[in-house]
Amino acid sequence: ALEVTGLEHAFATRTVLQGVSLRLPAGQTLALVGPSGCGKSTLLHLCAGLLDVQDGEVRNGFGRTAVLFQSPHLLPWKTTLDNIALSLKARGVNRRMRTARAMAMGHALGLDDVALAQFPNQLSGGMQSRAALARALVLEPDLLLLDEPFAALDIGLKAQMHQLLLEQQRTRGLAVLMITHDVTEAITLADQVRVMAASPGRFVWEMTLPVPAIARSEAWVHQHTAA
Ligand code: ATP
Ligand code: MG
Repeated sequence: ALEVTGLEHAFATRTVLQGVSLRLPAGQTLALVGPSGCGKSTLLHLCAGLLDVQDGEVRNGFGRTAVLFQSPHLLPWKTTLDNIALSLKARGVNRRMRTARAMAMGHALGLDDVALAQFPNQLSGGMQSRAALARALVLEPDLLLLDEPFAALDIGLKAQMHQLLLEQQRTRGLAVLMITHDVTEAITLADQVRVMAASPGRFVWEMTLPVPAIARSEAWVHQHTAA
């Protein structure tokens, strides 16, 4: 599980997070909603170990953690395929396997061979965000930290990405911490929802959904495929 207890964070003299606690077990999604500037990305960066914890505690019991930032951060001088494959190179996967896995993941996210051969600035915003998601998922993480990942996607693509995440949760217990401004998305994917308020950033409302997201989606699929 990912366990955050009594987290506090300040930039210079300004406190941006105060008394933030959460627990995210394997296979679950926690959706984080709140106004711009309330500290959502700061919390995510602390969970990712990208910022030093000042006060309180972050315990990440998951093995592999992948982060998807608010902007895609694709390397402009590498093709989409190479961008996706890059994280595998750092893990020592050989070139042929890297290419095969990056291609399969790109295809799963609806990026065709043309898009995979292009450079990031030749892709639409939605394609860039899918490429960034592919780069995160190709590592087969146990914990995925997503900072407004689907903001640039239309409803159909969003639904596809949701199904993909739910499948990873069903099949291998992926845990997801997701920042989103889309309340429908939060309700679709989440097992827990947290609402943050600003100055300082803190949770002001939380809800645990009565039925797990995986079970809800299975029921939905069943309902829509039954004769
Ligand atoms: P948004 O929805 O717009 O992405 P957010 O909830 O993700 O907002 P954060 O990016 O976590 O907000 O920022 C929280 C506060 O901390 C903001 O007031 C921001 O100006 C401030 N802040 C964030 N990063 C830094 C930094 N590196 N140095 C100083 N202040 C920062
Ligand atoms: Mg943010």
